[in-house]
Amino acid sequence: MTVKTLSPLREAAPRLADHPQLRGQKLAAIEELVLKTRAFSRGRIRSRALEIDRIADEDPGYFAWDLASEGGRIGLLNLITPRPSGGDADHFCLRSSLIAEEIAAGCGGMATMFGAHALGLSPLVVGGPAFWDGVMRDIAESSTSTRPLIAACAITEPTAGTDVEHHEHVRTAKLVSRAEKVKGGYRISGVKHFISNGNVARWITVILPTDPKRAYETTMAFLVDSESPGFSVTKVEHKMGQRGSPAAELTFDNVFVSDDRTIGRPGDGTPMVAGVLAASRPVVGGIGTGIARGAYERLVDWLQNDPAAEGLLDKQQVQLALAQMWEDIHLSRQAYLDAATEFDMISLGKLFSNPLVKAFGLMPAALRTNPIARKQLSSNLSRRMLIELVNREVGDETLTKTLGISSMAKAHGGDTAMKVTGMALEIAGLDCGPLRAELEKCMRDAKLNQIYEGTNQLNRLEAYAGLVAGESMKVLADAVGKRRKDTNGRYAGAEVLN
Ligand SMILES: Cc1cc2nc3c(=O)[nH]c(=O)nc-3n(C[C@H](O)[C@H](O)[C@H](O)COP(=O)(O)OP(=O)(O)OC[C@H]3O[C@@H](n4cnc5c(N)ncnc54)[C@H](O)[C@@H]3O)c2cc1C
Repeated sequence: MTVKTLSPLREAAPRLADHPQLRGQKLAAIEELVLKTRAFSRGRIRSRALEIDRIADEDPGYFAWDLASEGGRIGLLNLITPRPSGGDADHFCLRSSLIAEEIAAGCGGMATMFGAHALGLSPLVVGGPAFWDGVMRDIAESSTSTRPLIAACAITEPTAGTDVEHHEHVRTAKLVSRAEKVKGGYRISGVKHFISNGNVARWITVILPTDPKRAYETTMAFLVDSESPGFSVTKVEHKMGQRGSPAAELTFDNVFVSDDRTIGRPGDGTPMVAGVLAASRPVVGGIGTGIARGAYERLVDWLQNDPAAEGLLDKQQVQLALAQMWEDIHLSRQAYLDAATEFDMISLGKLFSNPLVKAFGLMPAALRTNPIARKQLSSNLSRRMLIELVNREVGDETLTKTLGISSMAKAHGGDTAMKVTGMALEIAGLDCGPLRAELEKCMRDAKLNQIYEGTNQLNRLEAYAGLVAGESMKVLADAVGKRRKDTNGRYAGAEVLN
């Protein structure tokens, strides 16, 4: 009898094949990418995982440029790149989550490296043509080079973590960093910490308020070039797990960001963060599922092939454990697939089916990049229109529900990773040779999945709001027009409109 190690996509996720928006070519293209990634993960990443873990233990800033570049060549740095920038972001949440599982089965840290890059790019998607035909295109074009341009997203501060990842708690968060409006742009000052890819990223999307005491009303996004004067990497963390993705402290000392590198107006950052997290949490669920699957596959391989494990597969206790692991991995996968399809086909799907957005996607590049069109499309007015369109098309009720499902998938994936890696270690015991170090790494990798992208406690509070209580947050309604006036009677954001 052979114990199965993994199932083809259609078998693992049968409901995907029946989905009306995935029939035919679309699912075939997704499967092809998953299979390519699986081959890359098994052939190149898994064999390097322990080595990367060891090198990064001694040098926490280490970054496997060769694997980033190889992944770039099969499209893993462009999963969220929109069509006008040379990519194909259709079903990007579904594709990114499936890919995350595949990479994480080889190495959790490498999966986070690719995921953090996409997280850094995600706010730019709603930044509009100035970003699509500018930085996003440059990043896409560099992705197949030996030194691809890497992105990161900086939200967390030393004094504000869980609270800045929650739309209500952000009101009382102790933020210190801030952006100050100056002629032609903003000057940003402060410290962001635990930023994945932060020490190697060329482009960093920084989320911060113009008034830290009114973060809910004044937060927005800024695209910072890490070569800007005043920017520095002040620390790289010594991580317990997922060392393939370095995490850094970033200091901004009066860094200038021009107006055309800002995304939205003050106050748009709050719904933007909710949307970005709704998109990224299924991916993190995929990473948790993949770490668990990696431990399961390594264990099964050992049980079937190593003489030291002879007879163990006949033991009922081992069979029960394998069935339990399979069940947990399967349920975790279904949770992130539900969340990713919800995001792609209901939340963002609504936006992409908007006639205006469709028309823009069909516009030839020559027309879009013609200097007059470019000026118009990059104007404050058209950038604002895009954000308003996103806010109106998606709506608070949908966002709250999608965020709830995504948060559930994230929390479940992290818990599954911890549970399954622990069970694998228990079965393998002490005398399993090199497998021991591999499983220990899987378990160290798993722990981070319960912490980052909002801790599991915070994610369950979002799931409570969106699913259990069926609440609807008001962040989009506030951003569309009901933003509170400041003490001078002006709406927060007025400086950008003027
Ligand atoms: C390796 C690593 C990589 C990361 N990468 C990034 C990145 O790329 N970009 C980025 O912006 N951030 C990143 N983070 C930050 C991460 O999202 C935060 O660590 C996380 O949100 C928790 O915040 P905190 O560490 O400040 O913990 P705290 O907020 O101090 O939380 C401590 C504990 O209190 C609990 N808690 C706090 N508030 C509540 C509440 N209201 N109700 C119930 N329990 C609560 C938490 O669940 C947690 O258990 C990363 C973190 C790590 C460790």
